[in-house]
Amino acid sequence: MKSARRNRNSKQRQAIADLLSSGMLSHPTADEVFAALRASDVKMSLGTVYRNLAALSGRGEIVRLSGAEDSDRFDCDTRAHAHFKCSHCSKIYDLPLSTFGLKKLEQNGFKVQSANVIVCGVCPNCAKKFNTDTTKLTTGETK
Ligand SMILES: [Zn+2]
Ligand SMILES: [Zn+2]
Repeated sequence: MKSARRNRNSKQRQAIADLLSSGMLSHPTADEVFAALRASDVKMSLGTVYRNLAALSGRGEIVRLSGAEDSDRFDCDTRAHAHFKCSHCSKIYDLPLSTFGLKKLEQNGFKVQSANVIVCGVCPNCAKKFNTDTTKLTTGETK
């Protein structure tokens, strides 16, 4: 019985890993993963989703992004890279480390394993939308 149970657990974990690597969701929250699984007819409780996301990030198969002031996000791209968070649409964009000159570190013998960098600002799409009214753009504090 034990192995059947383990089998089900790894199937659930695989469903989440597949969903994240499908590129359907970009840096989703646990809630978004839950909703997407629901939509594709995978039955899993929110608690199970949380548990599996924690297990996957614990094993280094996905990356948990904390520190963006809302819920944690999850990223299937485990290569060291940084993020840009739009304060208007909350979308997360990947940034290459070369943006920060971190590639230079490697040239000096440092080995970068991960980077916990979240740059906040306004993405090009939102900037375009609000281009005519820059007063709304300044801090993102207007709610
Ligand atoms: Zn945006
Ligand atoms: Zn990312």
